[in-house]
Amino acid sequence: MSPIRPALMSALLLGAATAAAQPLVQLDFPHTPDGRYVQVVDLHTHSVFSDGRVWPYMRVREARREHVDAVAITEHLEYQPHKADIPHPDRNRAFEIALEEGHKEDERPIIVLNGAEITRSMPPGHINAVFLEDANAMLVDDYRAGLEAAAGQGAFIFWNHPYWRKQEKDGVAKMQKVHRALIRDDLIHGVEVANGADYAEDTLAIALKYDLTILGTSDIHGITEWDYQERQGRHRTVTLALTADTSEDALREALFAGHTVALVKETFIGRAENLEPVLAGMLTVSTEQEEEYDRLEVRISNSGPLPLVFRQTSERYFYDAHDIFTVAPGSEFVVHLKEVAPGDRVTLPVQWLNAYQAPREHLEIDLMALAVTPGES
Ligand SMILES: [Zn+2]
Ligand SMILES: [Zn+2]
Repeated sequence: MSPIRPALMSALLLGAATAAAQPLVQLDFPHTPDGRYVQVVDLHTHSVFSDGRVWPYMRVREARREHVDAVAITEHLEYQPHKADIPHPDRNRAFEIALEEGHKEDERPIIVLNGAEITRSMPPGHINAVFLEDANAMLVDDYRAGLEAAAGQGAFIFWNHPYWRKQEKDGVAKMQKVHRALIRDDLIHGVEVANGADYAEDTLAIALKYDLTILGTSDIHGITEWDYQERQGRHRTVTLALTADTSEDALREALFAGHTVALVKETFIGRAENLEPVLAGMLTVSTEQEEEYDRLEVRISNSGPLPLVFRQTSERYFYDAHDIFTVAPGSEFVVHLKEVAPGDRVTLPVQWLNAYQAPREHLEIDLMALAVTPGES
């Protein structure tokens, strides 16, 4: 397929991000058609207990405001620049403070996960473990022993920002022997294809090649509203996890199973099998044949929190829209397809332009497969 020109793409997708401050979006996603939940999770955050700039309680307060369902507190194990002011002998402390806030009654429930970030030069670079029982067990010289301790606690472990310019001067992720060994030994389960404002195509290729769970995280150090509202988009970078229910166990299960989509700057990144149900949960399509003309009215509505951008690739033209169109969040897009006579079989293939299933490769679906014909509910 022909990739859309980068300039056009950024005009379409990043317009909101580059404009003046806009309100942060509340990330409420509808269920998938097969009844799964779309939990919005941020598995990488910092507080003053490592090099962050806020008290851990803020991480939960922010998550509530943005309707993020789960947040992990992942302080650097080895990098403790505030140690003189905030001694940190117990590496579970930031999590415990956040958890108190997470358990507040009469507030939106938030899953708070205990985590830690191994912070080494490359290789192996930075590696997060979440769902820890005791982060202190990872505080050892041999990072591999630390990862084995985390795995022994049932942790989900992932490679952070492998393309990071401070560790890879050219900004390109490189899979080394060390990483292959960690994946082989079940000590790395996922990888960040998006971190903060970054999205790395090379890292997406690695995730697909090595069958790693695809993740997006904020790696927030300051205040999400300041970072994302003004510079990086209208929502923080997160992972969508397709889960059986709203529990922590279901989240863990979905992460290990790779049932995720990374979300960065209003763009969805994941395997087709996960992108499809997320999209189908948000979209409703209905059609009506016009009596007077050979036109089919197509109504496409988006109950998700973000714009959905498509390019239709049908042989038929739209009567009243361009081939590239956007269905705004919480709204309906109405268009007419030409040269459709009563009884004609119609397909409406589209590329979902703000979704990638592989580097430079958009998800392609037939919108008519989602269509509800009159009489159905
Ligand atoms: Zn890091
Ligand atoms: Zn970090």
